[in-house]
Amino acid sequence: MTTLHTGLGAAGSAAAAAEPHVARNYAPLEVTIARGEGAWVTDIDGRRYLDLLAAYSAVNFGHRHPALVAALEEQLGRVALTSRAFRNDRLEPFAAALAELCGKDLVLPMNTGAEAVETGIKVARAWGYRVKGVRPDAARIIVAEGNFHGRTTTIVGFSDDDSARDGFGPFTPGFDAVPYGDAEAIAAAITDDTVAVLIEPIQGEAGVIIPPEGYLRRIREICDEQNVLFIADEIQSGLGRVGTTFACDREGVVPDLYLLGKALGGGILPVSAVVGDEDVLGVIRPGEHGSTFGGNPLAAAVGLRAVEMLSTGEFQERALALGEHLRQGLDDFIGHGVTAVRIAGLWAGVDIDPAFGTGREIAEKLLDRGVLVKDTHGQTIRIAPPIVVRATELDWALEQLRLVLAG
Ligand SMILES: *Cc1c(COP(=O)(O)O)cnc(C)c1O
Repeated sequence: MTTLHTGLGAAGSAAAAAEPHVARNYAPLEVTIARGEGAWVTDIDGRRYLDLLAAYSAVNFGHRHPALVAALEEQLGRVALTSRAFRNDRLEPFAAALAELCGKDLVLPMNTGAEAVETGIKVARAWGYRVKGVRPDAARIIVAEGNFHGRTTTIVGFSDDDSARDGFGPFTPGFDAVPYGDAEAIAAAITDDTVAVLIEPIQGEAGVIIPPEGYLRRIREICDEQNVLFIADEIQSGLGRVGTTFACDREGVVPDLYLLGKALGGGILPVSAVVGDEDVLGVIRPGEHGSTFGGNPLAAAVGLRAVEMLSTGEFQERALALGEHLRQGLDDFIGHGVTAVRIAGLWAGVDIDPAFGTGREIAEKLLDRGVLVKDTHGQTIRIAPPIVVRATELDWALEQLRLVLAG
């Protein structure tokens, strides 16, 4: 009965058998992780796996990076949670460091990525009414087809992924979707009511889709000309992954609002933020938005350390160099079980030739060989190792992929 209702077949029933009390909103691979260190995790039977997913870039610094664990432990010895009803002595240092990393004035701290996106939407609407002068309740936001911005009802309402939407309506109005990668489609969709363009500078969940060169620069120009905010969801693409601090840096573009999450919590805690200048983020007034846990001292201490680690540029350089290494390795697979490779820094989408199996099947076979990857959209596997991974470890993982594809 259960499998009939999940629609997940074998994966659903296996998940149900292993975790009978966990709601089946995921269909995890057959591995139960008990420990992690750096780029490696160990399962409950003591088997080791190289982690090429890094929790969707939340673990950019590797599992339990000593500097981040130290920041956490130090703060645990002082105070963990205060609420924003009172100030805590960690939030301003974290906000100051993050604002500097982004070249912006203000930071609004939240917890999860979806909350950062929701916050960005609220800020854009409030800016539209209070600064731009849009008619009450008429604000519209342009988004891209194929987007992934999280799982709340407002956010899935402007997704075009049926499994994210079906059964969860009615949805929040006010969003217009245009094809990803086409800046002129954005220009054509703008009306007097448009307050923002919300896009991923590289679409992660869609399969590491890299837009044509010049796309982000053109969006910046259009937004400037039309008095519309440019909101970059850098939750997965940002904080070192692509070899620069932000994926927008690849085109030298600065958005009006950065939406950050995932790696901002150092792979330890959920920490997210919206970062912008006074003229935009300053529209939010006391009492209009908040979060019980957002900006808590523990999160701020870990977030501050994560930002400090990024401010040296060391992780960005490493992602760039390792990414070049990975690119060379992956290029050899094209025509040999792989139809296409898209790569930016240490972040690759690899399209598997259907004749060799689905993305899920390849991920299962890689699991048997000690390599963790995640499939997306049927034929794609995504490779996003912790940035602390070694080139020799990447080579080993590629050798496992070669053996899997060789059958
Ligand atoms: C993961 C992700 C989110 C949502 O983050 P959660 O912490 O899972 O809520 C939003 N946008 C992008 C681009 C993401 O990759």
